[in-house]
Amino acid sequence: MNNSRLMTPFAAPAEGVVSLPGSKSHTNRALLCAALSEGTSRLSGVLFAEDTEAMLKAIVSLGATVEADRKNFEIEVTGLAGAPMFRDLIIDARLSGTTSRFLLPTLAAGKGEVTLDGAPQLRSRPFAEQIEALRNLGCDLEELGTPGGLPIKLASRGLEGGEVEISAETSSQFVSGLMLAAPLYPSGLKIRLVGPPVSRPYLNLTIKVMRDFGVSVDEPDGLTYIVPPGRYLAADLRIEPDASAASYFFAAASITQGRVKVVGLHRESYQGDVRFADVLEQLGAKVVWGENYIEVQGDRIRGGIFDLRDFSDTAQTLAALAAFAESDIEITGIGFIRRKETDRIAGMVTELAKCGVEAIEREDGLIVRPDLWSLRGASVDTYGDHRMAMSMALLSLRVPGVTINDHDCVAKTFPAFFSCLEGLRPKVKPRGKVVAVAAIDGPAGSGKSTVARLLATELRLPHFDTGAMYRAVAVAALRAGIDPGDQDATTDLAERTEISISDRTFIDGVDATDEIRTPEISQWVSVVAANPGVRRVLVARQRKWATELGGGVMEGRDIGTEVFPDAIFKAFVTAQPEVRARRRYDESSVQTLGDVADDLERRDRIDSTRTDSPLQVAPGAVVVDTSELTIQEVVSELASMFRSVVED
Ligand code: C5P
Repeated sequence: MNNSRLMTPFAAPAEGVVSLPGSKSHTNRALLCAALSEGTSRLSGVLFAEDTEAMLKAIVSLGATVEADRKNFEIEVTGLAGAPMFRDLIIDARLSGTTSRFLLPTLAAGKGEVTLDGAPQLRSRPFAEQIEALRNLGCDLEELGTPGGLPIKLASRGLEGGEVEISAETSSQFVSGLMLAAPLYPSGLKIRLVGPPVSRPYLNLTIKVMRDFGVSVDEPDGLTYIVPPGRYLAADLRIEPDASAASYFFAAASITQGRVKVVGLHRESYQGDVRFADVLEQLGAKVVWGENYIEVQGDRIRGGIFDLRDFSDTAQTLAALAAFAESDIEITGIGFIRRKETDRIAGMVTELAKCGVEAIEREDGLIVRPDLWSLRGASVDTYGDHRMAMSMALLSLRVPGVTINDHDCVAKTFPAFFSCLEGLRPKVKPRGKVVAVAAIDGPAGSGKSTVARLLATELRLPHFDTGAMYRAVAVAALRAGIDPGDQDATTDLAERTEISISDRTFIDGVDATDEIRTPEISQWVSVVAANPGVRRVLVARQRKWATELGGGVMEGRDIGTEVFPDAIFKAFVTAQPEVRARRRYDESSVQTLGDVADDLERRDRIDSTRTDSPLQVAPGAVVVDTSELTIQEVVSELASMFRSVVED
């Protein structure tokens, strides 16, 4: 399929200020209010995307006059000053849930015959509750296809209004649509919700936009909305940037340990989805709420349980981010998102699994059990859902080989998504204080050493094998008759020993290249490396070397976490345990395959659980699973990532 996009990871912190397109939810509400208003409204910051083009075309077909300036995101709408009239009209809402659910009650208020239809995907989305409510109000409508769905034919004679009951447990759009149309009903409308609605902030958004157009909605309790009959008055207003879209960029900052500012959003924003920033803060990110911006600085990504019933459009963003968390992330309260563009819960669980992320489906959400060592790229399906595409793209920031199939589906709400994301790729000039360190960490047998050496050659940078230093200390200890488990004595020795690492390894001037690789030393080295004193001595030397040389490809276990946490490029090279054991066994068959596997497992355990600088995926590091790749493929991938962030 050529509509697939192979993503290139950042492997470096996302950085930048993002100007997002206007909010779909805000735009479509404002367009409908403007179309029903008396006078000419001017909207700025408007979103031009598939869903809003559907609404735009619909209001024009109802008789509103529209002048769109797509370049400047502005639009002028001269409204109908009341309910629409039509004759044998067909309105195609395309893929847009908001367009269809907002229009249906307005069409019911009009006069004439009209059919509301949409693309096949929209035809399979639910409308039953809204249809029933309108029928109860006396509307004559007929489902031409499946009951409870589009297409729907209306023979409208105006609606008197009055009182109606409705459930908003599948979608709050049913209620928003009724509220938006209600001023057109001669008796207005009292809407009683039969239970707590999903996505309540969207109902608040509807009320705010209606107020901007001169109609106030009374909300005596959390389950009742009273809309008086009346007239919308034209208004000039600025559409807010899309807060759901902002979630991807905030998540990018968090995932890559970067810093991203989105302008035009703030604490008092009309859209409930700004609360996603609170979730990131609870997970460990630093969030600055400015007067006219929100900035997220990535830090830890802890685990937690989050109820996203009120801002469920960010659930997929959180599920993707969770792949990089320190512990489980559970998302609850979102069972109803199974009825969106696709079953979003099942979709995320399936696609995350392809990328090595365990996610467990629950009736009202999902649990993500992150294991960074298992991350791998995959060809990701999007099910015609823009949010699948944008969320899963977040994995690609730190995982090579992620391909987004049918990536064009982002056009539904955010045609420029991919270029906007690309705009956050940092560009670093390694001059002055900036040391161009490429940090390559990973467990034994991952292919890290070979990859790092070849990468250094390819990038023409010095290469540092820090593991060889720990091995050298183990050799020096055994040579000197010191027990490597004696922490003080070994630290003393490390301080006194001169170690030179290049193509060959010298200990106090004596070549020890072969000696440092013997099984005996492999046994001892983890003990030496778990000694905080030795680490202190060696880490200081490693920093000094790299700084003096202006950088290089530095490999080890703690380069990205400890030695150079500010490395401009970080990778964690890994492979499945069986693959790593097989590789080590093939290198030297002194031991049996089983013994090699046990030995690796033992070293992994000691390395990743020791208290001082345990082997971990560094925050923000790209995770490269080499199990199914050739060394050359890994090297080229890393080299192109490095070049994409480092300017000559
Ligand atoms: O990479 P190599 O297998 O030669 O590393 C040998 C050992 O040195 C590792 O198992 C680990 O215990 C230790 N090491 C470390 N920190 C580094 C590099 C290596 O703890 N930066």
